[in-house]
Amino acid sequence: MMDGVADLALRRLRSERERHDRLASQLEEIDRVLRATSIAVLALDHLQRIISANPAAERLLGFEEDAARGRLLQEVVRQPGLNRIVTTALGNDGRAQGELQFERDSPLEAQVSCEPLHTEGRPPGVVISLVDVTRMRRLESMRSEFAANVSHELRTPITNIKGYVETLLQVGIEDPQQRQKFLEIVHRNTVRLSGIVEDILTLAFLEEPESRHTLTRESVSMNKITAQVIEDLELTAQAKNVRLDLLAPQDIHVFVNRSLAEQALANLVSNAIKYSPADARVKIEVALGERCARITVEDTGPGIASKHLPRIFERFYRVDKARARTQGGTGLGLAIVKHIATIHGGRVELTSELGRGCRVSLYLPCE
Ligand code: ADP
Repeated sequence: MMDGVADLALRRLRSERERHDRLASQLEEIDRVLRATSIAVLALDHLQRIISANPAAERLLGFEEDAARGRLLQEVVRQPGLNRIVTTALGNDGRAQGELQFERDSPLEAQVSCEPLHTEGRPPGVVISLVDVTRMRRLESMRSEFAANVSHELRTPITNIKGYVETLLQVGIEDPQQRQKFLEIVHRNTVRLSGIVEDILTLAFLEEPESRHTLTRESVSMNKITAQVIEDLELTAQAKNVRLDLLAPQDIHVFVNRSLAEQALANLVSNAIKYSPADARVKIEVALGERCARITVEDTGPGIASKHLPRIFERFYRVDKARARTQGGTGLGLAIVKHIATIHGGRVELTSELGRGCRVSLYLPCE
């Protein structure tokens, strides 16, 4: 009889211990998950006292869990927006959502959501989770800014083409000279339109993550690349009586996608010609760097003020919007050069002194 009771007690004890072990291991797993996640999670009681916080919450809100435990949230975190959301949650069965902006060196945006924390027999507290959405918001605004810029760029040539073609269709133009002039305007705008579209497609290709892997590369002589670019731009230079001087004491072989390398250099030389005064000289210099070729294009044009330099490689960024556009620029040329350099594992640097010209160096890898 006693044996039976002892046996039963022992079995109960064993199953109790197993249950305890299972719970302990589940708790450990939950703790690991909370420590590993980049989502900031903290739990508050019904008086807004901190019960616990994970490392992501400590980092985001700037406190240490051990020192903060048991203290009021508003005492530990100076973030009135967060307090408002928590107060709303506590008055609403523990549920509330919102967005917060944190003033940091670089501003940070977080999506906040509160869920009830049920503790039996006591008024419920809240579990707050904060997800850093800064990158997502930045990408969203970049995407809409890009769409707005593209539409804006396309609108001018489309409006021009539409206007002149409508005039030609509706009233007809008797005077052959006048008609020729209209058609030339239409042609110029069509060329501009296709230039913008080409540039956008090139940028889209360069930004594809796979492009870096699928890009075909070959060993090409820099002399061939410079010769091709100079030949292509000779007429443009001649039209302004600008001289293209090439200084390439030794032929260097680069390991690149040839047509992209030519396009990058062509963008730089064409900018140098475009912004040079008439009768000026544009210097193109090829030198051997550390396992790379450094191609420098230098002009004596108006240069770029230093305040513009940090943004000069951004898409559609122009120093003088009106002037650059009348000169046929898309504002995408330098962005494309930068992407071409990056996709090859190279880089581009621009230095300038206002009134003294620009100097752009493109670094492309050797084999
Ligand atoms: P764009 O097609 O308008 O020339 P880019 O991306 O090539 O566009 O250049 C961006 C802006 O940088 C230009 O609008 C112009 O204001 C400035 N810029 C580029 N190259 C030069 C240069 N060589 N001299 C002076 N300004 C330049």
